Amino acid sequence: MAFENLSERLQKALKNLTGKGKISEADINDASREIRLALLEADVNFKVVKDFIKKIKKEALGKEVQESLNPGQQIIKIVDDELTKMMGEEAVSLNKSQHIPTIIMMVGLQGTGKTTTVGKLANYLMKNEKARPLLIAGDIYRPAAIDQLKQIGQQLNVPVYSEDNQDVAEIVKHGLEEADKNKNDYVLIDTAGRLEIDEQLMDELKRVTAVAHPDNTLLVVDAMTGQAATQVAEGFNNDLDLTGIILTKLDGDTRGGAALSIRAVTGLPIIFTGQGEKLTDLSTFHPDRMASRILG
Ligand code: GDP
Repeated sequence: MAFENLSERLQKALKNLTGKGKISEADINDASREIRLALLEADVNFKVVKDFIKKIKKEALGKEVQESLNPGQQIIKIVDDELTKMMGEEAVSLNKSQHIPTIIMMVGLQGTGKTTTVGKLANYLMKNEKARPLLIAGDIYRPAAIDQLKQIGQQLNVPVYSEDNQDVAEIVKHGLEEADKNKNDYVLIDTAGRLEIDEQLMDELKRVTAVAHPDNTLLVVDAMTGQAATQVAEGFNNDLDLTGIILTKLDGDTRGGAALSIRAVTGLPIIFTGQGEKLTDLSTFHPDRMASRILG
């Protein structure tokens, strides 16, 4: 389960405070030290942790907290609020186009879960918005990815546009024409990934962007890679105008560093999380609920 250790450690650090009638500066320093270690161990970005602890200390040492009847509870609330802020405060939704179709381009490194997530998102939109999506198979270097997307399409009863063509931008252009003809309200574009960011990949994604003008360019990142996920996000964001993050494999991520730092480091909102291999394993991301879950 995600955040298991972090949850346990934070709860322990804060429990020491709730039992006390009065809280001293030394108590707050002790708790801050524990919280700092817990966050670093969860693989949260160093600078994010530093800022976080600074804010907690400042607020916890504030007059209102010191004079309140229940300072321990107040401090827990401060930690809860700051964790929520760290993850972006409000839930963020997909951008919607004024005219159909709304276009969603999915990018990311190989194996992060792009193709699966295209299927999950199509399923989500069908369930929640009665959408009629069309999927475009743009991961042409991995024939298995095209088959995988076709299978997902069959499972969901959703059309998949694919073409035997080495020019992805052209495939996408034709796929969009098909969507116009069929009046699909969403187009989800799967793209190729690599083991690491390289110029060729970025050039291709830029060409697809120029043709598709996506309303949403979503980066799929693997939560299990921790802080590396935030670096990947920065890399992609330098070249593409990302609009948000989908954090996959949260079910296997015991630490939680990516979920906690990616917003603070990149400024990009986490819009969805994946927590399993099934097409139904996708959830909208709510920073406040996640913070409360971590604090138990
Ligand atoms: P792509 O190369 O980015 O298109 O990645 P795939 O969609 O092929 O996914 C790679 C592997 O990750 C597959 O085995 C998926 O079933 C698995 N996967 C994708 N999302 C999740 C998730 O949220 N949780 C888990 N446990 N596995 C996932």
